[in-house]
Amino acid sequence: MPDIGIIGAGISGLAAAYRLQQQGLSVQVLEASGQTGGVIQSESAEGFLIEHGPNSIRAGDAALETLIDALDLHEDRVWANDVADTRYVVRNDQPTPLPRSVGAFLTTDLFSARAKLRLLAEPFIGRAAVEEESVARFTERRLGPEVLKYAVAPFVGGVFAGTPDTLSVRHAFERLAALEDEYGSLLLGAIRRALTSNDEETPDTPSGLFSFRGGLQTFPSALADALGDCIALNAPVHALAHDGTAWRVTVAPTDAATHTRSFDALVCTVPLHRLSDMRLETSVDLSPLGDVTYPPLSVLALGYERDAIDHPLDGFGMLVPPVEDSFDVLGSIFSSTLFPGRAPEGHVLLTTFVGGARAPQHATSDAASLQGLVARDLDSLLGVDASPVFRRLVHWPHAIPQYEIGYGAVKNTLNALEETHPRLAFAGNYRAGVSVGDALASGLQAADRLLGANEQAGQPH
Ligand SMILES: Cc1cc2nc3c(=O)[nH]c(=O)nc-3n(C[C@H](O)[C@H](O)[C@H](O)COP(=O)(O)OP(=O)(O)OC[C@H]3O[C@@H](n4cnc5c(N)ncnc54)[C@H](O)[C@@H]3O)c2cc1C
Repeated sequence: MPDIGIIGAGISGLAAAYRLQQQGLSVQVLEASGQTGGVIQSESAEGFLIEHGPNSIRAGDAALETLIDALDLHEDRVWANDVADTRYVVRNDQPTPLPRSVGAFLTTDLFSARAKLRLLAEPFIGRAAVEEESVARFTERRLGPEVLKYAVAPFVGGVFAGTPDTLSVRHAFERLAALEDEYGSLLLGAIRRALTSNDEETPDTPSGLFSFRGGLQTFPSALADALGDCIALNAPVHALAHDGTAWRVTVAPTDAATHTRSFDALVCTVPLHRLSDMRLETSVDLSPLGDVTYPPLSVLALGYERDAIDHPLDGFGMLVPPVEDSFDVLGSIFSSTLFPGRAPEGHVLLTTFVGGARAPQHATSDAASLQGLVARDLDSLLGVDASPVFRRLVHWPHAIPQYEIGYGAVKNTLNALEETHPRLAFAGNYRAGVSVGDALASGLQAADRLLGANEQAGQPH
């Protein structure tokens, strides 16, 4: 029975390990930190349930649903409140609902009449003259400057903690670039796809945002429980080398002696900013991997008495576009509106994000200075007139990989590594999307790749 090592117990590593174990292979997960789940961490304190990392997962993927079935998590799952379809974007210092229908678009104050008319020109705009464009250039060219400023730029801040000027549309928003490639127009392409999509193909797959009663960490914890005692915590991997027969993995815990383990195959899910510190013996040039930016991000969860806030908090949250530069926060999630059980009776929970690629200088681990900055913005935008009764600050020095212009070199390097070493696979949020669902899918793909290599006897390492 081949012995497979999985490096990293984030969602991608746990998903890969689970799939391989289900296929009867022997797996060993090596995790550097003292817990599983990677950035997915939930905490209950003083009646509040806070998320240190991701807050929600988007349903709709059949493999994700199969996993939730297999782990028997349906009873624990909680769906986003219906009002969470409303997302506020700040314009002229006011949180303004992002329109969700043609009627709402025509009457919204978020876009000027000129911006609305500009959209009508979209089907007549030609394809890009250059191979790779930034998200900003692409959006401005196709949809006009206001859609960039008040829809796409805040969205990019919310998803990547990034800026549209540096991200590559082809790598960060593959589906948008594909609409232009295929149909020559985003609007016509979206309409054509909606008309031709066959809903009967996935009749039972639910859609919408979800979490779990005990927070998102329920998911990786259930995977870890199902995997049993094959997870080694506090086991940071420092080096990988192939000795002609097996992969030799060097583990160097701080409180124990360095030791080496052998595996027939490996799945590596270490974030790229950590991978560059690891010794990996290969003929492939790894330098593009070390160039990927992971900006810092701070997450401040604040609990208030409900009466302390004027705003109805009737939505998913609010995003602050960079153009509204009197504010410093990237945006806030109305956490206690989004999911039940996030705050004690009579209280609300807001989760605010600061820093990212837009303003890395504001991301700090100093709670007092961050709270001053956040309190000023929340007071001005939501009408908060009392001190929080609860606060928790989480600082991520390296939050989310930025799929910047030239990211193709990163993807090519990872593909070259896998081609050169068929028994080494890579998974994680740097492969094909940064969401929890994307990271999980990449873990399953890495497992399938090794299962395929396993069937082909006599493969090189
Ligand atoms: C603040 C924040 C908010 C987010 N919000 C959302 C959201 O609402 N919805 C959404 O879908 N996505 C969200 N994301 C993105 C998503 O959560 C992540 O992209 C995804 O969970 C990453 O999973 P992963 O397995 O690729 O990596 P990670 O979770 O980073 O796991 C990698 C693991 O590898 C371990 N490791 C590192 N080095 C070594 C080593 N040398 N040896 C052994 N182990 C090692 C790490 O300790 C870690 O456990 C958010 C991310 C952040 C940071």
